Amino acid sequence: MTTAAKKKTVPRKRAQAATRAIAAPSQRRSEPAAKPVEWKLHQSDGLEILEAPALARLGWLVHGFSTRPGGASKLTTNAMSGRRASRKTKNARTNGSVLNLGFTDWDSRKSVVANRKKFFHALGTEKMEIVTLRQIHSDIAHRVDSSSALVKEAAQGDALITREPGILLVVQTADCIPILLADTKRHAVAAIHSGWRGTLNRIAAKTLGRMQMEFGTRPEDVVAALGPGIGRCCYEVGPEVVVDFHAKFPQAGQWFDGPFDSLAAGENDPNWLPWLTMKPPGHQPPPLSANLDLIAANRAILTDVGVPPARVFSSGFCTACRTDLFFSYRREHTTGRMLAAIGIR
Ligand SMILES: [Zn+2]
Repeated sequence: MTTAAKKKTVPRKRAQAATRAIAAPSQRRSEPAAKPVEWKLHQSDGLEILEAPALARLGWLVHGFSTRPGGASKLTTNAMSGRRASRKTKNARTNGSVLNLGFTDWDSRKSVVANRKKFFHALGTEKMEIVTLRQIHSDIAHRVDSSSALVKEAAQGDALITREPGILLVVQTADCIPILLADTKRHAVAAIHSGWRGTLNRIAAKTLGRMQMEFGTRPEDVVAALGPGIGRCCYEVGPEVVVDFHAKFPQAGQWFDGPFDSLAAGENDPNWLPWLTMKPPGHQPPPLSANLDLIAANRAILTDVGVPPARVFSSGFCTACRTDLFFSYRREHTTGRMLAAIGIR
């Protein structure tokens, strides 16, 4: 739907929020290299599974990103009536049952197990060995083989790699960026969980390095799919995050909106005295936060180590803007978890 068409159907006050949700600014602003390709919501067994077209055309692998609707979990959230809730969010799709795939304290184990079964069935992967992680926002990647201990018990870490058929690598998110990698020459895959800490520690590049070491993967043969996560539009972070990124990445300024330079330089300590004496009344003090674009950062981290920019794709979806389709921890706090999965058939 075009922006113009949308504006005709929504009240003026809400038009901006609704447009933002559809336009996916994180994709528009951070993806000059690859032309945005529409990701597909694939209907299967009453669920909608998001697919990256660049991975879907690789017949030797299976992949998918779960979405919110469907499932057996009853989630009551007040985010729907929030001030920032868009028209889309208020729509009825989220009423009733949701597909929560993480063991959260508000949900029953039984529902989550049923939801996972439904998701893996919809993916057509119920016969595969499903490998998950105990995620700790680290930069640790594990190689998985059918004999690995972590097939039986989840290991601590935030990335998984394999070259063995029959193993499904799974990461869990609710704002962090799920990243799936496929080596199209050597037929190896990876699943990565990359929040701000993982991004800061270049987990995507380190996982690729591990694939190179273990499987001989060359970055130029890799296709990368960056799934739904919190967008630049919604991901507000404090000065400490800005300072950390500034210290590690020369180009970090491109990934932030807001007063990057002054936050990075530590100039925004809350000292209002100059404002009282120097500024006319009505002026605002400088903001103490900036917005971070995790998609742009992870894209740069991958292309910096040799993945061709045209082979790095992102869904363009912001989880916080689209709580009709996804879960957002930042936006809702009490919410579900999504899974991203990839494996070799
Ligand atoms: Zn957003």
